Amino acid sequence: MKKEIEKKRLKKELKSLFRSMDYVSDNYLNKEGIDDKELEVFANIYQQLGMAWEFLGLQCRHWDGYKKTRDKKEVCKICGKVRDVDETHILLPVKGHKKIGRKKMPDSKKTFRTKKEAKILYDSIDFHGANLKVDVHNSYKSNLFKKELDVNMAAERIVRLKESGIECSIDQHTINIRIGPRKEKGTKPDYGNFAFELKKKDLKHFPVLFKFDDNFKFSGLTILR
Ligand SMILES: [Zn+2]
Repeated sequence: MKKEIEKKRLKKELKSLFRSMDYVSDNYLNKEGIDDKELEVFANIYQQLGMAWEFLGLQCRHWDGYKKTRDKKEVCKICGKVRDVDETHILLPVKGHKKIGRKKMPDSKKTFRTKKEAKILYDSIDFHGANLKVDVHNSYKSNLFKKELDVNMAAERIVRLKESGIECSIDQHTINIRIGPRKEKGTKPDYGNFAFELKKKDLKHFPVLFKFDDNFKFSGLTILR
């Protein structure tokens, strides 16, 4: 029912917008003898109506399907947007859950020649002070480490969250948490050991709680700040 009301409202608004656009176009933009200054004003109005069209179009779920135009494009019967053309804006509700995009994974076994060709998605958002990045790519050749040596970068999906100087990144193989700023290039890298490799007195430096069940199945950890 909500959908029907939404559709009806949007149809009405678009209809009245198209009427305004036609009015400006017929009476001013295509009028003979209009002076340049006046033409510019109406050209601007038309542009702004075009922006309103884009905004309303973002709310359209293209409920009634598409129709073919004379130049063989498929356009939505309601908002007039061309099918399968990338949206340049995203419309999100101020209140409630926001959803952008779908979960993408590497989709090819091939090793691509460049990072650009291997890219599937690289996107980021600043969300109320937290930063989130999603990087999905197929395998590609990189000469990142040594100029003369090609290294195969594995296909992966990495999600990175940054909050208050802490970075958590998750990929298919590891979950990494970094506290504090990134190490500068050329400085000594941090050590990395399994807990069982460390002495009890050294372990005492780390405010980490391991979570596990009766069978010692690891289920997470808590780091105290
Ligand atoms: Zn539509």
